[in-house]
Amino acid sequence: MREAMTFEDAAWAVDRIRRVEGRLQASRLAANRLTVEIPWMDEVNAFTAPGGYIYFSRRLYEVCATDEQVAFVVAHEIAHHDLDHVALFHGWADKIARLPGAALFALFFHGLERLVYGPQKECDADRHGLDLCISAGYEGLRRLELFDILEQHALNVGDFDIVYGPDAESDDELDENASWTTKAQIWAWQKKRGYLPIRDRKQMLRKHFEAKHLGSLSKSSKLPSGGG
Ligand SMILES: [Zn+2]
Repeated sequence: MREAMTFEDAAWAVDRIRRVEGRLQASRLAANRLTVEIPWMDEVNAFTAPGGYIYFSRRLYEVCATDEQVAFVVAHEIAHHDLDHVALFHGWADKIARLPGAALFALFFHGLERLVYGPQKECDADRHGLDLCISAGYEGLRRLELFDILEQHALNVGDFDIVYGPDAESDDELDENASWTTKAQIWAWQKKRGYLPIRDRKQMLRKHFEAKHLGSLSKSSKLPSGGG
């Protein structure tokens, strides 16, 4: 990888990523921690695979304005390890390990992770990643601004499908209570794309946040209660 790619080594970038990865993994043994590397790739993406590394493209890194946004990307990738999704790569390792570094990177950054893991595991990684961020005290994450940034980028490059999904009128297609026809529609679309619509992902996470974290956060905060 080092021979094929240039990695970001500017102090501001390295300091920020070490600060975030350290805070997210503070309770883990050093041997179990993952290290984030920032390759100079045009793709706005991040990925992980078996081994001790997470790769976070420089293009995505530079649009993340806050530690919270960086933390969500990193936590999503940590989640793929915690939930043992990376084991799905074992059948592939023989084939892809022989690829030259640059080709391997291109493959991963074009969404191999999402194709291998699939939409359900991507949703699980989003939820677990959000939990990790909240546990690490990144409470500002509740605004889910990262999704607005991803959406803006997708609109800039003309990828309207990835923003709105198959049904532009509904952002609730990942809701567990959605009708089976809605679920079938989103399932087919995701299988074809290997991606989730950004708005549906954001809505799914907002509901997860409200169901799991909102109560505990408002109890511990010093804000006056709403009278309820
Ligand atoms: Zn993922």
